Amino acid sequence: MNIVTIIGARPQIIKASALSRAIKTSFKNSINEVLVHTGQHYDTNMSAVFFDELQIPAPQYNLNIGSASHGKQSAAMIAGIEEILQKEKPQAIVLYGDTNSTLAGAIAAAKIHIPVVHIEAGLRSFNKTMPEELNRIACDHCSTLLFSPTQSGYNNLVKEGFKTHNPAPYSINNPKIYHCGDVMYDNSMYFADVAEKKSEVLKKYHLQKDRFILTTIHRDNNTDVPERLNSLFASLLEIQQSSGMSLIFPLHPRTKKCMEQWLDKTLLHQIQSNTHFIFCEPLSFLDTVMLEKNCQMVITDSGGVQKEAFYFKKPCIILRPETEWVEIVACGAAILADADKEKIHSAYQLLSSKNNSFPSLFGDGKASEFICSEMLQHLS
Ligand code: UDP
Repeated sequence: MNIVTIIGARPQIIKASALSRAIKTSFKNSINEVLVHTGQHYDTNMSAVFFDELQIPAPQYNLNIGSASHGKQSAAMIAGIEEILQKEKPQAIVLYGDTNSTLAGAIAAAKIHIPVVHIEAGLRSFNKTMPEELNRIACDHCSTLLFSPTQSGYNNLVKEGFKTHNPAPYSINNPKIYHCGDVMYDNSMYFADVAEKKSEVLKKYHLQKDRFILTTIHRDNNTDVPERLNSLFASLLEIQQSSGMSLIFPLHPRTKKCMEQWLDKTLLHQIQSNTHFIFCEPLSFLDTVMLEKNCQMVITDSGGVQKEAFYFKKPCIILRPETEWVEIVACGAAILADADKEKIHSAYQLLSSKNNSFPSLFGDGKASEFICSEMLQHLS
């Protein structure tokens, strides 16, 4: 079976490594994967670093599209992907998550009748002002096989009209939905021990187990809205001062730019002169996993990082009004605090003072193998 996999943004590169690994170890003789990088993320530490570390084969195609407005970027991707699909003639296109690369892959493939496989299907924030929400919905409704990592994602698809017991053959008009666990859980389990052996990040930044907080902020409704960005950094400063914890903060390129542009100068100075704030460039996945495993808590607006915190049994403050990963909030291990100073403060107090529970919600670490065998059975 020939498949074309589209990657573009950091989290997709990481997610795709789980399936590529499963193909290499268990499906080498039956699945041939052609990797296409759209170039949506292009900085070395947002893209190239992951290929070596996660043993992902080099992409056969790179569209080098880079940053642009949503319309321009998506249009260029659709045109580029369509050309590759016409040349490669795969039996399926494999798409991850909810970025413009996902959307472009779905439109390009569906219009020329190539079956779409969507991994991370069914997730919803129910906030259509997020570009990601529009991308997810469009991709799900162009798909033939939809693999949801969570029960709530599966339920969302059922509510949108997807059938649960429809017989094969499957197609865009008769799609098949699965609840199969999370490929990122496969990855985190696989790389947890590797990170212990290889990552030097704790030593490099003088961090002690359970004495630091991992923080990431990159969503545009946090970085590009000055009041929210100021409120977030004022909250982090207050947490640092009251807890004495160090805060390690790998800076997304957008956040770096917006901090200089939007933060109140006094606040910026207070943070930059506080030696417990450790700002660094975006980290490799192994370093990130190492921090997630060893921190006291995670504070983030990232979808992936909030879930990885849960995998490593760490509480998490989510800097968004809603999340697609509703299960981790429902079980009390994570709290939605938005950019609200009061909520962030009380979430920190609560999560650092109680024993949190982390039930098994994301599968058995073998979602990628399951996805490969279903693709083979239904699309080859
Ligand atoms: N990540 C990383 N280095 C960093 C920050 C995050 O490798 O400096 C990883 C993280 O472990 C997770 C993924 O990037 O697997 C999440 O990506 P991001 O936060 O950019 O996007 P989101 O998950 O919100 O779509």
